[in-house]
Amino acid sequence: MSDTRHTRVLIIGSGPAGYTAGVYASRAMLEPILVQGIEPGGQLTTTTEVENWPGDTEVQGPDLMIRMEAHAKAMGCEIIGDIITSLDTTQRPFVAQGDSGTTYTADAVILCTGARAKWLGLPSEEAFKGFGVSACATCDGFFYRGQEIVVIGGGNTAVEEALFLTNFASKVTLIHRRDELRAEKILIDRLMKNPKIAPLWHHVLEEVVGTDNPKGVEAVRVKHVETGEITEIPCKGVFVAIGHAPANELVKDVLELHNGGYVKVEAGSTRTSIPGIFAAGDLTDHKYRQAVTSAGMGCMAALDAEHWLAEQE
Ligand SMILES: Cc1cc2nc3c(=O)[nH]c(=O)nc-3n(C[C@H](O)[C@H](O)[C@H](O)COP(=O)(O)OP(=O)(O)OC[C@H]3O[C@@H](n4cnc5c(N)ncnc54)[C@H](O)[C@@H]3O)c2cc1C
Repeated sequence: MSDTRHTRVLIIGSGPAGYTAGVYASRAMLEPILVQGIEPGGQLTTTTEVENWPGDTEVQGPDLMIRMEAHAKAMGCEIIGDIITSLDTTQRPFVAQGDSGTTYTADAVILCTGARAKWLGLPSEEAFKGFGVSACATCDGFFYRGQEIVVIGGGNTAVEEALFLTNFASKVTLIHRRDELRAEKILIDRLMKNPKIAPLWHHVLEEVVGTDNPKGVEAVRVKHVETGEITEIPCKGVFVAIGHAPANELVKDVLELHNGGYVKVEAGSTRTSIPGIFAAGDLTDHKYRQAVTSAGMGCMAALDAEHWLAEQE
């Protein structure tokens, strides 16, 4: 059955940015509607321990997101299990189409659709995600103190991740399919001078090797791109650092983007290139990509939306 729901603030996405926007917009009496999308709770529902959420020395990602949802709901945010399939920003109120058939009209929209790490697509990579395979050195590097790890990739992300991981790991092997890096020169210089980092050129990851009980990584098998020769490298962690893709599908043709598809916001705010449309979290952030920074931007977006709506009256 199709119906139309109007709200002052439509929040699209249910990660830390979305739920925090929900808390703030509810407490500003804006009676927001939050549409959760295909992954209720967002990226943190795909991980186990989170050790950098302030106030929790350690918390399981899915548990944290259940608490955030309950918090937003308790403040009065209406949370709906639906997916927004299109957003019309040319008319006011803005019109968002839900996959359920519901049409949402909104005076202001807060986009919190997040981003996705790019993966290689190997079955063994999938099998050990969260158990030794990661795409976030800031999130998981701390778990590999004194261990040998590998980083896959050859761009800025890979070089930055490899350098950061030397704070914890005893050795970092950087595996790259070519024999030169596509990163800034200053980063390459730092990488080459770092005694803990050993680049391995002309190789690609073939397989992550590990144990089931306890579940964890023991090594990677890598293949030489020219000779096909397979080598096994012992390691406890595998960091796939081949980039991220912001979930910008709803707005990629209408909003100003930068840094490879991230929604551009005015410095120090969450205002996008269209008045009344705000963006927060990983969708706008090619740099920090953390739960706490996303939550902070969700707060900013709700406050920015509140001020903007007040100005319109
Ligand atoms: C495995 C893993 C481990 C991590 N560990 C940590 C950690 O330890 N500490 C840390 O701080 N960060 C960690 N991160 C990063 C952290 O999860 C992200 O920075 C954070 O979740 C980003 O929040 P967000 O609200 O911007 O978006 P996301 O969490 O990406 O959520 C995006 C939301 O948008 C929704 N959505 C997308 N498209 C639509 C649509 N069309 N309609 C409706 N909804 C839509 C999705 O369903 C989802 O709910 C980790 C990430 C991963 C993948």
